[in-house]
Amino acid sequence: MRTHTCGELNKNIVGQEVTIVGWVQTRRDLGKIVFLDIRDRAGLVQVVCVPVDLGADYEFVKEVHGEFVVEISGVVNQRGPKNVNSNLASGEVEVLAKGFKILAKAEPLPLDLTDEKIGLDVHLDYLPLTLRAEKYRALFKIQAGIVRGFRDYLLGQDFTEFQAPKIVAAAAEGGAGVFEVKYLKNKATLAQSPQLYKQIMVGVFERVFCIGNVFRAEEHATTRHLNEYTSLDLEFGMIQDHHDVMNLETELLRYILNYLEQTVARELKLWNYLRPELPDRIPFLKLREVQALIKKETGVDHTNEPDLDPGEEKWIGEYAKRELHSDFIFVTHYPTAKRPMYTYVDKEDPEFTKSFDLLFRGMEITSGGQRFNDYQELVASMKNKSLNPDDFQFYLEAFKYGLPPEGGLGLGLERLTAKLLDIDNIKYATLFPRDLNRIDLQISPPEYKQKKD
Ligand code: ATP
Ligand code: MG
Repeated sequence: MRTHTCGELNKNIVGQEVTIVGWVQTRRDLGKIVFLDIRDRAGLVQVVCVPVDLGADYEFVKEVHGEFVVEISGVVNQRGPKNVNSNLASGEVEVLAKGFKILAKAEPLPLDLTDEKIGLDVHLDYLPLTLRAEKYRALFKIQAGIVRGFRDYLLGQDFTEFQAPKIVAAAAEGGAGVFEVKYLKNKATLAQSPQLYKQIMVGVFERVFCIGNVFRAEEHATTRHLNEYTSLDLEFGMIQDHHDVMNLETELLRYILNYLEQTVARELKLWNYLRPELPDRIPFLKLREVQALIKKETGVDHTNEPDLDPGEEKWIGEYAKRELHSDFIFVTHYPTAKRPMYTYVDKEDPEFTKSFDLLFRGMEITSGGQRFNDYQELVASMKNKSLNPDDFQFYLEAFKYGLPPEGGLGLGLERLTAKLLDIDNIKYATLFPRDLNRIDLQISPPEYKQKKD
């Protein structure tokens, strides 16, 4: 029976008998003495296996290699000053094994998990194994920390969490990029966002958030798009305008960064994390102002375009860093013609909306803004976009019966993770990425496929 996790072993319990259970991470043989690094959820510790101490159990030691799961009883010993591993909580001690059991065997590993040069395809083909590598365990601990920080902050601000449906009516936000769902009597699709449900829920709880996967049939394979990603979504009422949403996001991000630094500092170090510059107020510029700047500085005239292209996002990201000392910049006032029907129009300049994107280190990670809350205005906006309000009766009920001024945002979890850790392809920052060529059935390693055939 396990008495301690590896992470709990330290010099305060030197001399004590313990039993640990974990995976063999590495094996080093020095004549008959075998050194094993044992890993469990809490840490890593060195175990020394000597024939005289183990007796008959030494036979088991002969057999083990990486990823075997073993149970080891032994005595905690202080390591010599020269052998202390200061990177580990348990680096000052080791366990001298007295008993050894194999709990699960592992086949010979097809790749070296410490190899930093494993290509993306091989990495993804062997995810059940490659995710166990120290760096990837760290990455997804950090990602779990982002989700936890998001949730903690919003709960602290009196938001209520809810689960949005993933099967939605085809009419929802129209057109491109949706996955159809057959089977149901009416045409249905997989949700591209929880937007309409978030707004309905503002009418119920005033402040809501949801964390869930959404689906996009993206036309192109890129390093920033997935077909399924996790959207961190929030929506809240009683706002003045989009600045309330932007200010909330600023404090939310600050909370998440602090939370990560307090809880997963060791993991962040493995990825050379550099704390992003996050000023008290993130700078904000209108889309047209950004385009004018780009024109002035580079000569490229995109001053009539409805959005920034990836190169322009990068350019303004560098500008924000250099001139405004911020790794983040809000771009506001996207054209009314190009934003969804629920986007609030700036009444002083009706061609533009009170919407924003947040760019982080030169890439969009969030879209948000104020939304129409007035029933008549929303219906008019639908008609302007050639949408039929009859298709939205269910959604419109929320507005017919009193919805306060409100706004919200959607933040892509994988993009935030990738940018935070300087990862250039979003797929590395996604546990089980889906793209045109990849669902897990298809990515079974070749040997397995052959056996099945
Ligand atoms: P882009 O213009 O970069 O394709 P978008 O404007 O279509 O993104 P939104 O609908 O605004 O995306 O979604 C809100 C956020 O969700 C984005 O800012 C981004 O962080 C994330 N996101 C959107 N699409 C994807 C995708 N295909 N894969 C991963 N994350 C995405
Ligand atoms: Mg967007």
